[in-house]
Amino acid sequence: MLPKTEYVQRPDDAVYETDSPVLYEVVDGIASITMNRPQFNNAQNSQMTYALDAAFRRAVDDDAVRVIVLRGKGRHFSAGHDIGSPGRDVNKSFERAHLWWDHVNKPGVEFNYAREQEVYVGMCRRWHDIPKPTIAMVQGACVAGGLMLAWVCDLIVASEDAFFQDPVLRMGIPGVEYFAHAQELNPRIAKEFLFLGERLPAPRAHAMGMVNRVVAADALEAETLALAARIAAQPRLGLALAKQVLNRAEELQGLRATIDMAYGYHQLAHAHGQVVGTGHLGGHDAASMVAANKAGS
Ligand code: ZN
Repeated sequence: MLPKTEYVQRPDDAVYETDSPVLYEVVDGIASITMNRPQFNNAQNSQMTYALDAAFRRAVDDDAVRVIVLRGKGRHFSAGHDIGSPGRDVNKSFERAHLWWDHVNKPGVEFNYAREQEVYVGMCRRWHDIPKPTIAMVQGACVAGGLMLAWVCDLIVASEDAFFQDPVLRMGIPGVEYFAHAQELNPRIAKEFLFLGERLPAPRAHAMGMVNRVVAADALEAETLALAARIAAQPRLGLALAKQVLNRAEELQGLRATIDMAYGYHQLAHAHGQVVGTGHLGGHDAASMVAANKAGS
């Protein structure tokens, strides 16, 4: 017989505000995949990440789709992972995309380790490797888990008001799960970005090569779709092969190994919070993170 501590009962108390956390539309060969939780600044719950996965799959399967644009409805691209909305569904089981076992009834560190492997790192790697070109269209906040979604896209087009931020060090955590900071940013800038957790404005992100284009807010959609249309005119296989080569080159430069290494530290930080009694987010929740951000501390 297994010891009692082997499994844990956790109630699924999530209340969803929508059955459509992701919208999908194809126009002239360009699929728009739109995060649709604007009242929560497109905070990502698992309902959303699985819907994103399904939408990406649909776009890959549809021969009419040449380019995929990932976007967020409302004022912000994404405020990150859902750590506080009524639809926070960490205790809900889903039909998983990878072969990690279900996390919901697992004890201790195993809960977060298995869950984030599937829902965050696994999904992001899967989307990064989609054979069709992807463009993140970013307005407003692109924070923490939102940053992960922009980074896994091939190109990033940002509006002038957009900003990028990874503030999770305030929780005692050394960066988000998909740790591409060392590839996306110069190491010294990456340290500043993490140590201070400040907003990186789109123009500065553009100046250092993290963003492809910065455009006026009211031109964001038109400029992104025009760029997508130009890419859509290129041969499909050529695009896929170019993407494969550059993705493999990123891995050779250490992206995959860095993410795996950082994931261990990330889980260590979650576990540390639990050991010292502040919880896996270091005593923070969505409200306290917003308050700390506003205070600029
Ligand atoms: Zn985490």
